[in-house]
Amino acid sequence: MKTIRQISGYWEPNQIRILHDFGIDVNEGIQSFIIEEDEVYHQLEPLLAEWNILNTRSFIFSDQEIKTASYCVLKGWHEVGYPMPDGNNGYIHLTYDDCKLCHHCFCGLVQKSSFRIKIIPKWNIWGLNWIYDELFTRREIYDDFFSSYGIGYKDVRDYKTDNIINGVVQLLIPVADESLDLSKYDKTICSVCGMTKYGAKDNGFFPVYKNQTFHIFKTKEFFGYDGNCFRKIIVSSDMREALVERKLFKLHDFIPCK
Ligand SMILES: [Zn+2]
Repeated sequence: MKTIRQISGYWEPNQIRILHDFGIDVNEGIQSFIIEEDEVYHQLEPLLAEWNILNTRSFIFSDQEIKTASYCVLKGWHEVGYPMPDGNNGYIHLTYDDCKLCHHCFCGLVQKSSFRIKIIPKWNIWGLNWIYDELFTRREIYDDFFSSYGIGYKDVRDYKTDNIINGVVQLLIPVADESLDLSKYDKTICSVCGMTKYGAKDNGFFPVYKNQTFHIFKTKEFFGYDGNCFRKIIVSSDMREALVERKLFKLHDFIPCK
């Protein structure tokens, strides 16, 4: 695993000179550069903190690290369109059980009705904006692939007509009952409902599961910031291999658990 920093800022002449001494060349004005989190980065870090620039951390895993992981976090699907109605949290009231939901942290979403959508994308698997833990797929992919893993589905409805959209389904992804050691993650506890939400940023290898029977499932724990709350989607090595083989996902759309 390599830890990478993407540094973005408006560079001024004195900063350009200092960066040049570290072997980094940028031009005056707005520009980004990528640096591995190595010795040079650690020497540079205090200066970057002073300079009020944007510094984001990400991770690159080797093919081998992904291929040998018994479970991986799934990411990298296309988000297309919005759950409808998209004004004033209308979709929340229509799609989820209001009584179980905390309106402060948005944890406790229990789906009571089908998603209503306006756009049917060209993708084989996709998600909706704002909804970070649900996947939608073509009916034939569900029948041919996901159903053999024992995964259920829910109909999806057209927002205009309220009719079921033939040929599109939402995967009903079960929730794990096994807890994870997330002590490395930031967390917030909601002052209204008391539920814990963990930071959603990538944090290197994801903690590993020991006793799962599902091939695709959601974390028991919630992640997110402020007004969003979601579970991460995890897949087994079998499912990961099949998704890549069928070209439904790429190998680097997975974060290995370790
Ligand atoms: Zn809450």
